Parts: sequence; structure tokens; C-alpha cells
Amino acid sequence: MREKTIPVKVGNAVIGGGAPVLVQSMTTTSPKDVEGSVKQIIELASAGCELARITVPTLADAEKLREISEKVRSAGVKIPLSADIHYQPKAAFEALKWVEKVRINPGNFVSGEDKIFESFAPFAREAKKLGRAVRIGVNHGSLSARILAKYGNTPLGMVESALEFLSVCEAENFDQIVFSLKSSHPKEMVEANRLMAERLKTGGHKPYPFHLGVTEAGEGEDGRIKSAVGIGALLIDGIGDTIRVSLTENPVNEIPVAFALLQAAGLRRTKAEFISCPGCGRTLFDLQSVTAEVKKRFSHLKHLSIAVMGCIVNGPGEMAGADFGYVGAASGKVTLYEGSLPVLKNIPQSDALNALENLIKERGKWSE
Ligand code: SF4
Repeated sequence: MREKTIPVKVGNAVIGGGAPVLVQSMTTTSPKDVEGSVKQIIELASAGCELARITVPTLADAEKLREISEKVRSAGVKIPLSADIHYQPKAAFEALKWVEKVRINPGNFVSGEDKIFESFAPFAREAKKLGRAVRIGVNHGSLSARILAKYGNTPLGMVESALEFLSVCEAENFDQIVFSLKSSHPKEMVEANRLMAERLKTGGHKPYPFHLGVTEAGEGEDGRIKSAVGIGALLIDGIGDTIRVSLTENPVNEIPVAFALLQAAGLRRTKAEFISCPGCGRTLFDLQSVTAEVKKRFSHLKHLSIAVMGCIVNGPGEMAGADFGYVGAASGKVTLYEGSLPVLKNIPQSDALNALENLIKERGKWSE
């Protein structure tokens, strides 16, 4: 069960409040390269990205957001844009004018505790006035010297840092906030988010939404596994309203991983659910090539779950309530299942895929 969170409006999208977990990514371009940034945002949106974040190192970069946003909108792309700010409150104020969400890092927005209210309260007021969302984005590894001295580089330090900034938003009666507590270590990131969720509850705060991500997760298989462990653990806890799978690759590659992760956590269906056994000495056909073929042919049926099981001995029992099953029955023979019922028995393997497609069509469960 997902934890209940308040809805935070980000342009035409909503984070939290029961909305589907939003998939986001980040450009790798400089905002000064307006054309390059616009091109990458459009590519991300075409890949299914639902919010694009742009790094904004300086005020001059923030000023470029106007042109980037205008060009993205005139290309018909409607996904909200977010600016990522470190060290530059002036850039954060400028960004509020042009993009739907601004991420600030409590570790470097201001330097002294006494200055938090005086620096951050006007920002929260401005965000409220303009109807913008703000992410209070804490990173393990960029906590302020003051927090480090008090709590160390720990999940508790991350939480205390976020709570300080929350207290300013609450004093300003501004609640369009999303929290993130990221680390390149999935374990720390999971601990920090769990603790933050707990502190919001016990502290009598509103249930604000969470943005999940493992920073610097890396590339390839390592990056994907780290992200899946950190983000996945929290999603299974019911925590998380938007995710970013951060990979050292073209950001477009992050999007299918994010959707696969959400599907594995049972939160979004973007393709058919496939169940297939690993194969063993009982397997009666080339499991890998048949599974690949089944995925190619039936992936678009996202309302269905389809199993490919190597043998009739254990296959039917272990296909976990799939809607349809392709199960090895004897050498060169396949039995097709509908739920737990064998409906076409011992058909030649060469006909089995067409027969499965026909069966799905006969049951009115096909779509083009
Ligand atoms: S379903 Fe059959 S073939 Fe597949 S792993 Fe289990 S016993 Fe082996």
C-alpha cells in the first residue's frame, strides 16, 4: 500500500496525492546551450519522461530557462521542467519565474543556521506566489558543515537538514514541497527516507511526497541494480511519488529502467507482465528463444500476464496466476493454459505462438 501523501502540483502534472509515480530524468546539457537542452528535453519526453530537470549553475544559466521553456512548449512538449540549484539562491529565484519546480539543496542554499529563515523564507514565499513546487533535495555527501558537525554524514543528518528547511516552509504556510534524501549507497538512502517518513508522521507534519533516487549509481548493470535496490525497497514500503534512475549514460536510457522498476514494484503497467521459469533438466524447448519471441509478440498487451514455463510438471503450478500460459508438454509439444486451465493440449510447438495469439483474440483480450 502506498503511503498517503498530499498532492503537489508541478505544472500540468501532480506528484503525490495518489497520482501515478512520476518518472523523471535530467538533462546533461548546459542551459547556455539552449538548442541542445531543448533537443534533449524533447528526446526525454518522447521516451516517456514525465518531468525533465535541468542543472542551473549560475544566474546567467537561470535566465536561459525562459528561452528553453518557450522552445520546449512551442515544440508541443508539455512535461513540467525543474531547475536544479546549488549554492546560488539568486539563480533559484530567477528559475522560479520560468520553470514549474525548483530543487534546492539545504546543504548549500545558505551557510549559517541563523540565516536559513532569512534566506529561504523569501524563496518559499515567492514559490507560493508563483504557484511553483519546490524540492528540498538533501544529498549525503553535500550536507552543510554545521549539520556535519552536529550529526555527522549520516541518514539522521540528512533528515535534520531537510526538517530545518521544512520548518521555514511551514512558517510560511507553503506546502507544495517534495523531499528527496539521496545517497550513492542504497542502504543509506533507504534509511534516510524511512527515517524522514517516520519523522513527518511523528512530528505532526503534512505527509509530503518523496522523490526517490540513488545518486551516482553508475552505468550499465551496476547502476540499474543499485537504483533497483534503493528505489525498489522504498517503493515496496509504500514510500515514493516520483523517481529518477540516475545513470552515467544517455539520460534517455533511464526511462525504460524507471518504468520496469515501477512495474516490478506493482505500481505501473507499461507492458505485459511476463513470468518465465529459469529452465532446468526438465525443460522441453528452447526457453530463451521462445520467451524472447513471446515478449516481442505480446508486450503491448499491458493488461495481461503471460507465462512461459519449460515443463508441465511444475510449470502450471508455478506460473503465479498468469492470464495465459505457454507450457512445455512433451518433446515438440506445448499446452496452452488460460489461468490454471489447460485449454489447448499437446499442440505442435511450431503452431503454439499463433495458437496463443488466436486464443487471446477469441477471449476478446487482444489489442493492436
Ligand atoms: S517449470 Fe519445469 S522446466 Fe521450468 S524450471 Fe520448473 S521444473 Fe524446470
